[in-house]
Amino acid sequence: MDEQIELWHERLGHMNFRDLRTLGKFNCVRGLPKLGKKANGICGPCQQGKQTKSMHKKGKYLTTKEPLELLHMDLMGPMQTESLGGKRYIFVCVDDFSRFTWTYFLREKSETFDKFKMLCTKLQNEMNSNIRSIKRIRSDHGREFENATFETFCNGLGISHEFSAPRTPQQNGVVERKNRVLQEMARVMLLSNNVPRNLWAEAINTACYIGNRVFLRPGTRNTSYELWKGKRPNVSYFHTFGSKCYILNDRDQLGKFDAKSDEGILLAMP
Ligand SMILES: [Zn+2]
Repeated sequence: MDEQIELWHERLGHMNFRDLRTLGKFNCVRGLPKLGKKANGICGPCQQGKQTKSMHKKGKYLTTKEPLELLHMDLMGPMQTESLGGKRYIFVCVDDFSRFTWTYFLREKSETFDKFKMLCTKLQNEMNSNIRSIKRIRSDHGREFENATFETFCNGLGISHEFSAPRTPQQNGVVERKNRVLQEMARVMLLSNNVPRNLWAEAINTACYIGNRVFLRPGTRNTSYELWKGKRPNVSYFHTFGSKCYILNDRDQLGKFDAKSDEGILLAMP
């Protein structure tokens, strides 16, 4: 059983053991086998890659009542290493109610608006805009957010744009915390299988995909996925990030692999 819990700890992006057990105990996801009660709780990559625990203080106050009421957004970067795909920035957007998160990777800050527009269209389609539409967004005063293009677009859709006060990241706390959590997960995932650092975008993307399916909304027993999609997520197909994999065919559809050996790095999700 201990091995099971360690395996799932890795598969779910090095999720901490206590949260992992909560997930199993309350049946928050589908496809998770029964896990043993106790693991020693020591994991090398976690010890190496995770910061002090106090860093991720969770906000417990729900200020929103439904998805799309408020979206938090931020831009991280530039990263020290350019990603394999030539990206340097991460655009992160968090839905306040569900805490469902989307990430996009950018080469230049100036691409922020295009990604935001793309995301708006996607979200409105997913949520059926006749019933529900984006009401408010919140960002800092960065020039990538505070500009005429953004303003015109938001005004056109009736979205109000709130800005957090300069130098008070607490006001942007939800997305700031999410940034740190994603970066930390990605760091541990890269460390744990010695994955090359220029695959950080893949690691962040995977961390985000996993997080949406396994993190519980503070104060509830619901995952972000359930609050967003209305059903429990399935985790049965998850693999450990960075596992070696062998490509049989359709090599064009698979991301990163060494063409000579048909050997690749598994990115933990389909
Ligand atoms: Zn770990």
